[in-house]
Amino acid sequence: MHDTTTRTTMRLERFVKDWLEPAVLRETRPLDVEAWTVGGEPVPFAEAVRATYAPFTLGSAWGRPWDTTWFHVTGDVPAGWSGDAAPEGTRVELVVDLGFTGAGPGFQAEGTAWTPDGRIVKAVEPRNQHVPLVAGQALDAAGRVDLYVEAAANPDVPGGAWTRPTPMGAWDTAGEAPIYALRTMHVALVDETVWELLQDVRALHGLVRVLPGTTPRAAEVLRALEDMLDAVDQDEVAGTAAAGRAALATVLAAPATASAHRVHAVGHAHIDSAWLWPTRETVRKCARTFSNVLALMDSDPDVTFACSSAQQYAWVQEHYPELFERIRERVREGRFVPVGGMWVESDTNMPGGEALARQLVAGKRFFIEELGVEPKEVWLPDSFGYTAALPQLARLAGSDNFLTQKISWNDTNTMPHHTFWWEGIDGSRVFTHFPPVDTYNAELTAQELARAERQYAEKGRANTSLVPFGFGDGGGGPTREMVAAARRTRDLEGSPRVELSDPQSFFDAARAEYAAPPTWTGEMYLEYHRGTYTSQARTKRGNRRSEHLLREAELWAATAAVRAGAEYPAERLQRLWRTVLLQQFHDILPGSSIAWVHREAERNYAAVARELEEIVDGALRVLVGDGDRPVAVNAGPFARDGVAALGATVLDAARGVRTVAPTPGPDGGWVLENALVRVVVTADGHVTSAVDRASGREAILPGARANLLQLHRDVPNEWEAWDIDEHYRRSTTDLVDAAKVEVVDGASGPALRVLRELGASRVEQDLALAADGRGLRITTRVDWHERQKLLKLAFPLDVRAERATSEIQFGHVHRPTHVNTSWDHARFETVAHRWVHVGEPGFGVAVANDSTYGHDITRTRADDATDAQGARGTTVRLSLLRAPRFPDPDADQGEHELTCELVVGAGIDDAVRHGYALNLPERVVAGDHGVEPLVTVDDDAVVVEAVKLAEDGSGNVVVRLYESRGGRARARVVPGFAHTGVEVTDLLERPFAGAAGEPARDGDAVLLELTPFQVVTLRVRR
Ligand SMILES: [Zn+2]
Repeated sequence: MHDTTTRTTMRLERFVKDWLEPAVLRETRPLDVEAWTVGGEPVPFAEAVRATYAPFTLGSAWGRPWDTTWFHVTGDVPAGWSGDAAPEGTRVELVVDLGFTGAGPGFQAEGTAWTPDGRIVKAVEPRNQHVPLVAGQALDAAGRVDLYVEAAANPDVPGGAWTRPTPMGAWDTAGEAPIYALRTMHVALVDETVWELLQDVRALHGLVRVLPGTTPRAAEVLRALEDMLDAVDQDEVAGTAAAGRAALATVLAAPATASAHRVHAVGHAHIDSAWLWPTRETVRKCARTFSNVLALMDSDPDVTFACSSAQQYAWVQEHYPELFERIRERVREGRFVPVGGMWVESDTNMPGGEALARQLVAGKRFFIEELGVEPKEVWLPDSFGYTAALPQLARLAGSDNFLTQKISWNDTNTMPHHTFWWEGIDGSRVFTHFPPVDTYNAELTAQELARAERQYAEKGRANTSLVPFGFGDGGGGPTREMVAAARRTRDLEGSPRVELSDPQSFFDAARAEYAAPPTWTGEMYLEYHRGTYTSQARTKRGNRRSEHLLREAELWAATAAVRAGAEYPAERLQRLWRTVLLQQFHDILPGSSIAWVHREAERNYAAVARELEEIVDGALRVLVGDGDRPVAVNAGPFARDGVAALGATVLDAARGVRTVAPTPGPDGGWVLENALVRVVVTADGHVTSAVDRASGREAILPGARANLLQLHRDVPNEWEAWDIDEHYRRSTTDLVDAAKVEVVDGASGPALRVLRELGASRVEQDLALAADGRGLRITTRVDWHERQKLLKLAFPLDVRAERATSEIQFGHVHRPTHVNTSWDHARFETVAHRWVHVGEPGFGVAVANDSTYGHDITRTRADDATDAQGARGTTVRLSLLRAPRFPDPDADQGEHELTCELVVGAGIDDAVRHGYALNLPERVVAGDHGVEPLVTVDDDAVVVEAVKLAEDGSGNVVVRLYESRGGRARARVVPGFAHTGVEVTDLLERPFAGAAGEPARDGDAVLLELTPFQVVTLRVRR
């Protein structure tokens, strides 16, 4: 036979575009449209429905960016379209085209259709433009159309250019000209047979494209499509569509092969809680997406939908109670499936230990209390890398499965597994799946299904993967076309077997078929988006500050409640926590959102700080009594300067000068010296020597300058706010010149102030050495006006370290400093929390920080090294600031303050101590007496991370602590108040099945034996 594949394919494509797709709508009629433009932030339906509407002509422009126009649509359904007179195999729908552009759903205009009595019917979006007109629901009593469409003029922020600075990310820069024109607002008669034929053709045409053309199956399907083309008359598509379907019936009925990959297709909508839109728009996106899903469920009993993020349900509950009740009903039926158990799909690199725990606590409590279900998996398809602390936290929150997909974005190495055990720093493990389809926004095309089967790495031992389908990022969710694709691939030769499913069913099936999955140990580093540890430094600082203020507020409020019967501000704390948790969303804390989002985040952090300071002040006033004696307050987990951990002590006198005075040093420089360390600073403000006086050991690499500011060109190939590309290292400017260096009186005493200028920017640093500590504190204030630059602060250290240690949640990770393998090479920028440490046996150096997350730690040769001498030293660099231009063109411009501390002669224990101290500065308040700690722990390896009252309102005290050094620890934990018992709980403060019953007691003390990095939650009953 002659090969006509190309000609038949061309014929098919033209037929679909020119005849089949247009024939789906048999007839359309325009409706009457009136409009009212809000001219500002969205308003509730009740306000919109009372507004005065003016006639609106199809084709007219509407929609200044970010504004909302409400369209009131009325008219008759033509006689003979509905009821008994309706032609067989048809249905009636409203079809809306708001002026949709080529951008995807969720990245441009979107609408919500409401009935006049305030019920949401469904959303309208590109590729999902219909509203079902069902009697009694979307049609009025007389059978007429009477609907309101709330049209959001959300701009297409990138406009196809994902690196170009855009003005669209804020009201005041986006311009006033309308950006859409209303194209369609019609009532339509839909031909169901033609629609089904279109779905048949899409499924089979997709199959032909992915199957090798040499297979009998590909040829058979192509010939069937050719028969269909012959059977359907383009002048009479509706009348011949059934014949077309008949021509395809045999190839659609051919069953899948025995070894076909099995796909659990899970309806989903990834809705970014903020990104190229502000959170207020996400509130509406949730309503739109969820109403789409409910409408789909109404018409199809097999559809289920997995939906994460308690925050998004909470928004719907608050703003759309009627919609929330309908969701609750579908949750009860098991079709609308809450997943993930977190407050939002948070970043996992940067949230602190307690905050990451609270993501799970706040999320799960909401799901349990409001929806009566407890998700058993952690669901983070899109976050930018996964902390090695997560397996333990997931387990301690009662979850045993984990799903992500993002590691498929790695730029260098391919993850070897798709289904595996993931083991964290403490040895806990969770059953983990990476959907090999490599997207969380699948449409169930043949191409996607073939990719899932092709890439699935567990072949031969297991054969099942999960495919999340539904428009996502900006929401939208699954469509009836996607469900139709699932139906056609349920058992289809040449395709994986697709089953509509839910996450739990998938995990059950995957565990059952896979006896011995492989194990991945430690962090899952994303080899991509390495700039997200640094972009939008004010957002990062706000997060770090909020986390520590929350600790202080909970600690002192709980202490005041127990000691003085003060009221515990549970509701305020919950509200403040929820704000901080929301802003840990994977495009807010990482700094990858539009200007609007980050300016709002900064305002929110300021408000959170004000309110938390109020709570701390109020609680401390109750605790220290009326008086004018200085009382030093220590919220940290270690005793400090004579003040017990978690306690307060009256000082004999106000704290005096606490830093040493710089004295003149060599070559016009300075010396800062106390009994422990001696630091030499050059005339231009660099540290060239830092000696541990007891051992005489030098910390700075000979000939090198520490406290060196380095400016790099920072122009990633794509994704500006997200990425630092490795080539940044090949363009470096050392900021060696100082405009001025002088001794000043700093906040705690004398300091050396160094002023540097670079172009329009200015850097001022204060260097201060505590009178009795090992830490040289460096406060860097920057007025930053660079563009596409990265500012690093370097400490070349005379320490030969095979690996560097970085703090993460409830512990730390080690990462090699060499670049032997492609995995090491790709890890050129890393995240750390409050400290990093490099050491040799017996000597180490820590660099602590108060708001920086991005670091790079590399092996360094000395300046005078010979060819025979390799890396003698290790350079620790903090990534202080960036200045990406997309999606916020002015990211990071303006004032910043970042503090770090060089700790000479430090072990891991010192690093932990300095990390807490820097982030929990001592407070001195006026009062009458000190405060005994609410709880004491006698082993410094065991660190108290949180003290609070129980979430259940019982008044019980909850103490969360962990082993901080990666070793075994025995600790006596003594509650400092009358109590009736102590039990070990999970993160949600429920009795914990994993613990061996009640802990051992010795009088009032609880005796704990902890394994490396173990987190323990204690409930102390009052
Ligand atoms: Zn996302």
